[in-house]
Amino acid sequence: MSARLLDGRKAADTTVERVRQAVSERLDAGLSRPGLAVILVGDDAASRVYVRNKEKACQRAGIASFVETLDVSTTEQQLLERVQQLNADPRVHGILVQLPVPDHIDQSLVTNSIDPWKDVDGFHAENVGRLALRQLGLRPCTPMGIMTLLRQNGIEPKGMHAVVVGASNIVGRPMALELLLAGATVTVTHRFTRDLASHVRQAELLVVAVGKPNVVDGDWIRPGAVVVDVGIHRLEDGSLRGDLDFESAKKNAGWITPVPGGVGPMTVASLISNTLIACERFDGVD
Ligand code: NAD
Repeated sequence: MSARLLDGRKAADTTVERVRQAVSERLDAGLSRPGLAVILVGDDAASRVYVRNKEKACQRAGIASFVETLDVSTTEQQLLERVQQLNADPRVHGILVQLPVPDHIDQSLVTNSIDPWKDVDGFHAENVGRLALRQLGLRPCTPMGIMTLLRQNGIEPKGMHAVVVGASNIVGRPMALELLLAGATVTVTHRFTRDLASHVRQAELLVVAVGKPNVVDGDWIRPGAVVVDVGIHRLEDGSLRGDLDFESAKKNAGWITPVPGGVGPMTVASLISNTLIACERFDGVD
């Protein structure tokens, strides 16, 4: 068997086009243009690429983007004050502080200082709590993008046994909550899991988000499984690969995401969707 591709670029284009149309209709109706503020602290090369991709996606969707690059020496207090100003700025419907921030800044303190209804990354404790309680706010972008990618390809997780490898705050945990919300039976595995292979072998739907290549062996994949690889690794020649060995994983999988061109574009597409959702909600607030 050779797996069918879950094409993230194509699905992301569909999402961004849908947002572009909605923005254009808003403007025709005399409503405000959605605005996204992105703060980058320091000069991390990978972060700069991510921020540039987000800016480009905003342009395509007709969203105003306000990118600010702050010096690496910016203090936690200065960053918190800047977030407060953006919380109060009516042109800004979404705020994103690009992670990671430098070590002298408390990442969760900054994330939780963003107005939850402007938290378009969906990392605020309130937004993750809302997902857990089925009272949706702004949903964490990567898991939300994966759900969109599955559904755009006609894959319905309801009733499936889903296995998530990795339990981070931004990917693994909210991914498990999304799948539970969708009616899957969910197993979450992590660094303390014994016999990872035995769990992976049961997965009808497998999401791998570890950040280490080859933690999951392609031979463990159940024949016909839907396989989503979240990992991103830049190789010495500049090319990207995921956590899985794509060639061996695709032999058993029924569906598989490529890296690049799988989950990455869907994460950006979710950010664009969330900015529109935040803007639409703002319309209704005095
Ligand atoms: P993280 O380091 O915060 O979390 C890694 C998780 O993997 C932890 O829960 C840990 O317990 C688990 N883990 C570690 N070793 C393991 C093992 N041997 N077996 C099972 N679980 C193990 O990482 P993260 O922020 O969740 O990111 C994971 C990967 O996804 C990274 O490569 C990151 O670059 C990538 N990522 C991609 C996107 C995207 O849009 N494509 C978005 C976010 C993160």
